[in-house]
Amino acid sequence: MSKNCKGVKELFEEVIYQGFCTGCGACITGCPYIVTHEGRIILLDKCTVVEAECYEHCPRTYTDMNALSHEIFGVPFSDQEVGVTLDIYMARTKEREIGEKGQDGGTVTTLLALALQEGMIDLVVCTKMDEDKVPRGYLARSREELLQCAGTCYEASFALESYRSIPRHSTEKVGVVGLGCQLEALTKIRQYPPEKNVSPDNIKLTLGLFCGWALSPHVFHPYLRENYDVSRVVKFDIPHTPGYSFDVHTKSGIKSVPLDEIRPYINPACQYCWDMTAEFSDVSLGSAGSAFPGWNTVVTRTKVGADLMELVKRKGLLETQALPDGRLAHLKSVALKRKKEALKSIVGKTGNKNDLLYVGNLPQRMADRLLEIP
Ligand SMILES: Cc1cc2nc3c(=O)[nH]c(=O)nc-3n(C[C@H](O)[C@H](O)[C@H](O)COP(=O)(O)OP(=O)(O)OC[C@H]3O[C@@H](n4cnc5c(N)ncnc54)[C@H](O)[C@@H]3O)c2cc1C
Repeated sequence: MSKNCKGVKELFEEVIYQGFCTGCGACITGCPYIVTHEGRIILLDKCTVVEAECYEHCPRTYTDMNALSHEIFGVPFSDQEVGVTLDIYMARTKEREIGEKGQDGGTVTTLLALALQEGMIDLVVCTKMDEDKVPRGYLARSREELLQCAGTCYEASFALESYRSIPRHSTEKVGVVGLGCQLEALTKIRQYPPEKNVSPDNIKLTLGLFCGWALSPHVFHPYLRENYDVSRVVKFDIPHTPGYSFDVHTKSGIKSVPLDEIRPYINPACQYCWDMTAEFSDVSLGSAGSAFPGWNTVVTRTKVGADLMELVKRKGLLETQALPDGRLAHLKSVALKRKKEALKSIVGKTGNKNDLLYVGNLPQRMADRLLEIP
């Protein structure tokens, strides 16, 4: 355990009751007392452990960014807008079946399916929507199961919960797809391996998803049920159109509402999140920056990620091209804005520029730049 570790009481006092919980699901991975109920984290019973994994692994308790960076990349925390990068370009799947189900370019599902096929991983910790479109953590072990998970659910999914269900002594090689907060938690799990769960040494691949914000399930889902026949919903989307809309694709057409209609359901915790591009991953993917609908922006960050991208291209499963002029600058400016806004919100909460809550041990130059300290 780290020197900052505390117990579940402090997890609730410092994170959950303060509105910082991102819904990543990491606290549920190590403990039988913490569960989710209708989109909230609930404590079932008193726990007297004073240094607990739920606190240690939470991405919103003190997080040593330098240590996390060393864990994944072997270098100090990058002061670049989108973190450590080897390459950045656009991609989309060439597989029709994946293209039809994928959210943007279907690159995530294509990479994961190939990694399974090649034996690089045996299962994927991912997110699947049930019949009522409630997102849940899921372990996918086949291409068919991955296809069932394709597409974006804009609600927080608690996906790391499913990490717990991997048997403790399993030797299966694990892939994980998740948001920046989930990968921060996963990196903390790698730093401080849980006692009763599968060894994080089994994690062989991480794919991160860009994320501007996620919706709070406990408020958004009632809205969804009230306004849509959820059993007929086939896709959610926020297309890159001027003005932005939230589109719900159903079996009988698309219902589009202004994005402002769903903004009230955004998880308030997301205003404190500073990692738009899921920096602690082998490859991160989104659509921001790609310029065209139906494409992904792909950021390779590690050799593992770059090798997988090379393999998928060699197999002819993906089409790639350079980002058009100006799009990388755009992506960087959006990511930088996120960092600045997050730190502003954090300092607004603490009232102290030296207390950045969970964002710990930043290079001074970077902290000053983000806080606009001359
Ligand atoms: C909450 C959320 C907000 C996002 N915001 C942005 C944004 O602002 N800008 C941007 O460029 N991109 C954003 N994305 C990423 C984008 O929606 C796509 O996931 C990404 O472009 C990959 O597309 P794809 O076609 O390759 O994915 P697919 O091949 O369709 O695979 C999608 C994968 O996403 C996983 N997934 C679905 N829902 C969730 C969830 N709630 N939590 C964790 N994993 C999930 C599934 O397990 C699946 O494996 C967001 C994603 C989520 C989940």
